[in-house]
Amino acid sequence: MLTTGRAGRHDGKATATSSAAPATLRVDWPNCAGRGLCHELLPELVSLDAWGYPVVAGPVTADLLGPARLAVSACPHSALRLLTGR
Ligand code: SF4
Repeated sequence: MLTTGRAGRHDGKATATSSAAPATLRVDWPNCAGRGLCHELLPELVSLDAWGYPVVAGPVTADLLGPARLAVSACPHSALRLLTGR
């Protein structure tokens, strides 16, 4: 497991939805191979189900936008997207 060193992010500060357009992670299921690299890179938002497929907990908070973009770019199957806008 990768160590991110990002403890303490859930401090109740503004989210991406409070001052900007909402941001959401979406999984393109036909392309997702499971195994959970996105979970390794973004454990604050992505957990894994019993089969190793990602479960996204909710909207992307402002402090997690950077790590969310990294998880999207690192997905080996281009199966993770960051959606913004209304
Ligand atoms: S990194 Fe991509 S392929 Fe791997 S579990 Fe996450 S969304 Fe699926």
